[in-house]
Amino acid sequence: MAAGIYGARSGLKCFIIEKGSAGGQAMTSPWIENYPGFPRIEGMKLMETMAAHAREYIEIKEGVEVVGIEPSGQDFKLTTSGGTFYSKGIILATGAYHRKLLVPGEDEYFGKGVSYCSTCDGFFFRKRKVVVVGGGNTAVTDALYLHSIGCDVTLIHRRESLRADLQLQGTAAEKGLKMIMNSTLASIYGDGEKVTGVEMVNSANGKKEKLATDGVFIAVGTVPSSALAKSLCVEMGEGGFVKVDINYRTNMPFVYAAGDLVGGILQVVAAVHGGAVAALSAFEDLSNPYYTRTRGGRSCPGPKS
Ligand code: NAP
Repeated sequence: MAAGIYGARSGLKCFIIEKGSAGGQAMTSPWIENYPGFPRIEGMKLMETMAAHAREYIEIKEGVEVVGIEPSGQDFKLTTSGGTFYSKGIILATGAYHRKLLVPGEDEYFGKGVSYCSTCDGFFFRKRKVVVVGGGNTAVTDALYLHSIGCDVTLIHRRESLRADLQLQGTAAEKGLKMIMNSTLASIYGDGEKVTGVEMVNSANGKKEKLATDGVFIAVGTVPSSALAKSLCVEMGEGGFVKVDINYRTNMPFVYAAGDLVGGILQVVAAVHGGAVAALSAFEDLSNPYYTRTRGGRSCPGPKS
């Protein structure tokens, strides 16, 4: 959305294509407390505000999925669920998705007690027992949110110490959040209809232990949504994140990337920065002959599998 605002305001003819609703993963964050100008705001509210702002300048095609992008002469051809479009440049901001734990029961009980989104599903677990798995900012934010709406929360983390910001750790301690450290989830079990508990393994002594619970909120990190970037043969770095230069140009001429897709601190503020810079780079490149190679000059054998 930041790329859209900056692109449109710079004079580029552009639009945003979004397969779901505008806002991405930040929509699922119960609260965001570190986006300047908004000391404490629900993720959904911040994203709706941003989308409304973006719509003042640019069309957002929601519910439209891009299924393929390929160079086509001097342009890119985008095949989407809403038709075919041609473009002179592409800003990839496809974000990231929730990493799975890959334990028995996780898929079987998804939607029956297993969730990756506390704001979406937390309400169903009020006055009931839930566990949150993970030790990062998402896990602690989710655990605090679930605690605040009246769930009986236990955070389970595989190490001795949390990865979350000290500020959040302080709030967790203040609220008396229950935590089980040095424990890895081995399985999620239930009665066939819904979750009834989890089995943990203590990483220090290998002891297995069961804990009865109604809900399991998994918050163990994110994986970049890089399929479109891969199809364009954009260079990837560590963890599968797209490599960009300081101006958010990828190695492919007229292809830019920003947001969680490029890794780094995965914060809204960083995504906003990246999107704005990428749009200004696109404007600069389309106005001036920055690239000596033409779009047609690229050699991309396409995805390997
Ligand atoms: P993260 O920082 O990568 O943390 C993932 C957590 O899950 C880590 O504690 C990790 O353990 C644990 N983990 C990973 N794989 C696991 C597995 N297989 N089994 C058990 N535990 C596992 O991810 P995140 O918390 O989703 O945060 C992602 C990014 O979003 C971060 O940059 C974060 O700062 C940002 N974020 C910010 C806010 C905010 O500022 N308000 C809120 C949410 C997220 P280890 O610690 O042992 O590696």
